[in-house]
Amino acid sequence: LYRAKAAGRGRTEVYDASMSATSTTGVHRELADAIAGRELVVHYQPIVDLADMRVVGYEALVRWQHPHRGLLLPGSFLALVQEAGLSVPLAQYVATSVVDFVARTRDKTRWVSVNVSADQLGDGEFATTLLGEISRRRVTPGRIVVELTESSLVASSTRIRHELTQLSAAGVPILLDDFGTGVSPLSYLRDLPVAGVKLDMSFTSGIPDDPTAGKVARALGALARELAMVTIAEGIEHEEQARYLHRNGWRYGQGWLFGGAQPAEATRT
Ligand code: C2E
Ligand code: MG
Ligand code: MG
Ligand code: MG
Repeated sequence: LYRAKAAGRGRTEVYDASMSATSTTGVHRELADAIAGRELVVHYQPIVDLADMRVVGYEALVRWQHPHRGLLLPGSFLALVQEAGLSVPLAQYVATSVVDFVARTRDKTRWVSVNVSADQLGDGEFATTLLGEISRRRVTPGRIVVELTESSLVASSTRIRHELTQLSAAGVPILLDDFGTGVSPLSYLRDLPVAGVKLDMSFTSGIPDDPTAGKVARALGALARELAMVTIAEGIEHEEQARYLHRNGWRYGQGWLFGGAQPAEATRT
C-alpha cells in the first residue's frame, strides 16, 4: 500500500508528517524490511591528522539505499526509525557492520567512530552487543570509538551513564559529538566518561568570516586540551579552516576538504 502511494509522489519528497496511520505502518514495515534486507548501508568518512592530513580513522554514517528513492541520508529517516521502535536493531546492524569493517582494515592503526543516540543506549544492550562483536572478531577495543550527540543526551539517565562506563572501561573511547551546541556540554564533560570532543560544524563554517565562531572554536579547543581530551573538528570544507583550527589546538579534522562518506569497498584502507 505504501509503496503504491510513494511511487506516485515526487522523487525528492521525504516521508512527511501528513501520512495516514495506515501508510505510517507501511513505512515502518518497509524500514524493518530494509534493516533485515541490508538496504541500509554504512558509509565511511575519513578523519585526518591536521598536522599532515594523513587519514587516521573514519566515521561510520548510515544511509538507506532505497529501491525507488535513491540514497537517503539519516536526517530523512532516523526519526522514523525511532518512531517505529527500530532504533535498537539499527544500532546492532551498524555496530556489526563497523566491527566487520575494522576487522578487515589492513592498517591496524586506524579507528572507526560509530554514532549512537540516547534511545539506542537507553535500551541497555548496546554496550553488550558492541563489546560482544569486538571480542568475537578479535578487534582491539580502542579501534572502535563511540560518538554521542549531545542533544540526544538531554534525557541523560543512570542507565545511559552505566552503558558509557561499561564501554569506556572496556577500552572503547567515548566522544561528545556536535560539541558546543548542546544544552549542558560542560556538565557532560564532568559527569560522563568522555575521551574527546567533536567541534560542531557550525563553528567551523563560521571561519573565517565570523570572528566570534573562530574564537569560540579556539576556546573550546583550549578547554578540551586542558582536560586532556582528543579534539576533532567537523565540517572542514576549506584549507583556511583546516589551518586555523590546527593552529588553535584542534588535532584532527573531518570534512569535504578531505573527502565525504564512501561505501566500505571504495574506502582505501
Ligand atoms: P554527525 O555525527 O555530526 O555527522 C556529521 C554529518 O556531517 C554527516 O551527515 C556528514 O556527512 C556531514 N558532513 C561531513 N563533512 C561535511 C562537510 O564538510 N560539510 C558539511 N556541510 N557536512 C559534512 P549525515 O551522514 O547526513 O549524518 C547526519 C547525522 O545523522 C550525524 O551527524 C549523526 O548524528 C546521525 N547519524 C549518522 N549515522 C548514524 C548511525 O549509524 N546511528 C545514529 N544513531 N545516528 C547516525
Ligand atoms: Mg558523529
Ligand atoms: Mg557532529
Ligand atoms: Mg551533527
